Amino acid sequence: MSEDSLSEIFKAETESKVLRNQSLSEDEIVSLLMSEEPRDVNWLYDLADRVRARFMGDAVFLRGIIEFSNYCRKNCFYCGIRRDNRRLKRYRMTVDEIVRTAIEMEPLGITTVVLQSGEDMRFNRDLTGELIRRIKAETDLAVTLSLGERNRETYEYWRDCGTDRYLIRFETSNRDVFRALHPDDDYDKRLNCIRNLKDLGVQTGSGFMIGLPGTTIEDIAHDILLCRELNLDMIGIGPFIPHPDTPLSQVGKRPGLEFCLRVLAVTRLVNPDAHIPATTAFDAHPHKGGRQLALQRGANVFMPNMTPQKYRQSYQLYPGKACVDEGGAQCAYCTQWRIDILGRTIGEGPGHTIKLQKF
Ligand code: SAH
Ligand code: SF4
Repeated sequence: MSEDSLSEIFKAETESKVLRNQSLSEDEIVSLLMSEEPRDVNWLYDLADRVRARFMGDAVFLRGIIEFSNYCRKNCFYCGIRRDNRRLKRYRMTVDEIVRTAIEMEPLGITTVVLQSGEDMRFNRDLTGELIRRIKAETDLAVTLSLGERNRETYEYWRDCGTDRYLIRFETSNRDVFRALHPDDDYDKRLNCIRNLKDLGVQTGSGFMIGLPGTTIEDIAHDILLCRELNLDMIGIGPFIPHPDTPLSQVGKRPGLEFCLRVLAVTRLVNPDAHIPATTAFDAHPHKGGRQLALQRGANVFMPNMTPQKYRQSYQLYPGKACVDEGGAQCAYCTQWRIDILGRTIGEGPGHTIKLQKF
C-alpha cells in the first residue's frame, strides 16, 4: 500500500459525513484529490455515484443548449470566441430562429432550453427579454440563460420575463489567477453577479475550470468549497482546454480525464444536492466517452447540443469540442442511447433545483 493511500477510518468518516450532507475540510478534499491508489479511486467513484443516487435519484435531466451568438465584448484569455480572435466567423441567430429551435426540442423529451452566447450586446435587456417571453409563451420549456455578466436590474427583468435559471461560472476561486485571465472582469463583481441571481430567486449555477494555468490542487479544493458556500443549485465544471487562437495556446500540461473525474466526484461529495451536468468539455478530444463516465461519477444532468449544425464549428470555446459535426434529432437519439446504456432514465418535468421549496 502506498503512503498516500486513504485509511479505512478516513473513508468511513468521509462516507458518514457526506451521506448526512456535511461538508469536508480543505485537507480532506486535498487527500481525496491526490489519492491515485486504484482501490481508493474506485471507492471515491462508487461513493460519488451513491451520493448522487441518494440525493438526486437515477433520472438524468436533459438541458438542450442553443449557442445562439458567438459575438463577445470580452477577451477572457482562455476562450476561443474572445473578442480579439479574428480568425472566427461570427454569427448571431435571429429571435425567430432561436424560438423555432427551442420548439423542436420538446418532442425529443428535452424539458429545459439553455440559451448561451458570448456577451453580445446586440442581445440587450429588451431583445433578450422578448426572446425569453416568446419561448415561455410558445413552449413548456424551463429557460436557463448563460449570457455572462449583467447588472442586477437586467437579471431581475429577465427573471420577470420567465427565466428559471442562470449559469455563470466563477472560473477559479484564486483571485490572482482570475485577475490575470480576465482583462475585463473583477472577481468580486463576478461573485456579486452570482449572489444577485441567488437573491433574486433565480436558480443559480456556477462552477470552475480544472487546470487553469497558475492554479494548484489547493485552489481546486477552494473551488469545490466555494460551490458549497454559494449554495449553488447547479454546478458546472470541466477541464480547461487550451485554444490555439488565444493567449493561452501554449499551455503545456493539461489535467488528464482521470483527474478531472476525481474532481467531479469530490464536487458531488461536497455538494450532494446540486444538479451537476456531465459537461461537453469532458468529451473533448482525446477524452471521448468522458461524459458517460461523468454520469457514473456524480453527474446527473446531460446537455445535448441543439445549436443548428451550421453554426457549431464557429462556437468552439475550446478545440476538439464533441458533436460539432452532428445535429438536430440525431443528438437527441444519441443522448437517449447514452442514458439507456447506463441503466438510467430520462428525467420528467423541468428538473428544477431540489434545494429550495420556493420553486
Ligand atoms: N459568455 C458566457 C457564456 C459562454 S462561456 C460566460 O462567459 O459565462 C461558457 C463557459 O465556457 C465559461 O464559463 C468557461 O468556463 C468555459 N470555457 C471557455 N473557454 C474554455 C476553454 N478553453 N476550455 C474549457 N472551458 C472553457
Ligand atoms: Fe466571452 Fe464568455 Fe468567452 Fe469570456 S468566456 S470571452 S465572456 S464567451
